Amino acid sequence: MADVPGYLQRMPTAAPANVHILGQGPSLLNPILAEIRDRNLQQDRLRFRRNLERCGEIFAYEISKVLPYVERDVQTPLGAARVPVLAEQPVVASILRAGLPLHQGLLNYFDRADNSFISAYRKHEGDADHFEVEIEYLSSPSVEGRTVILCDPMLATGSSMVLAYQALLRRGQPAHLHVAAVIASEQGVRFALEKLPDNVTLWLGAVDPELTARAYIVPGLGDAGDLAFGAKD
Ligand code: URA
Repeated sequence: MADVPGYLQRMPTAAPANVHILGQGPSLLNPILAEIRDRNLQQDRLRFRRNLERCGEIFAYEISKVLPYVERDVQTPLGAARVPVLAEQPVVASILRAGLPLHQGLLNYFDRADNSFISAYRKHEGDADHFEVEIEYLSSPSVEGRTVILCDPMLATGSSMVLAYQALLRRGQPAHLHVAAVIASEQGVRFALEKLPDNVTLWLGAVDPELTARAYIVPGLGDAGDLAFGAKD
C-alpha cells in the first residue's frame, strides 16, 4: 500500500479505477493549481478565472483520450487524410456560477459540445454552519444516451454535484458521466462515488484532506465563486 495515496486507502469498496487525480503525476496542471491556491495571486480575478479555464482545457484533453472516435476522410490541398474524429459530441454541464470558467475551458476543446447549466446555492437557515443545497434552475438539452461532462471547481461535500446530476436526470439518462473538479475533499470523493451511478469517472486536480465546519476545503483555495466573480450577499 506504500504507493497508494492516503485517501484511496481510506476509500470504501468502490473501485478507484474510475478516479483520476491529474495533479498526482507530472503535469502542467500543478503550476496552475499552485497559482489558483496562492492567496496573493488569486486576488487577480482575471488570472484566477483564466487559470480555472486552463484547468478546464487540461481536463478536456485528458477526458478526450477515453472517448470513442470514428475515422473520417479529410481532403487536404494535396490528397486525402484519414483522421479520427469524435464519434459524438458530449454535453458539457456546469454548476452556476463558479463552474463557468471551468466550463469555458472544457468548451474551448469540445467546441461543438451541447451545454447544460444548473444553479445550486447553499441555503443557510439559523445555524450559520448548516445549509441545504438548493437547485433552482436547469437549462439543458436531452442527455438521454449522451456522454455528460459535469464540472464544478470544488467538490467539497459532494452534495451540489450529486443534486446537479439528479436535476440533469429530468432530461434523460446519460450513457456516461464524467465529473471534473479542480480540488476535491476526501469526503466529497467518497460521497460522489457512493451516490453517483457506476458509469461515472472522476477527473480531479487534487484531493485535500479536510473540510471546515462550513464545508470549505482545507487547504483548498477559498471561495471559488467569489474569487472569480466577487462577493455576493
Ligand atoms: N466551494 C468553494 O468555493 N470552496 C470550497 O472550499 C468549498 C466549496
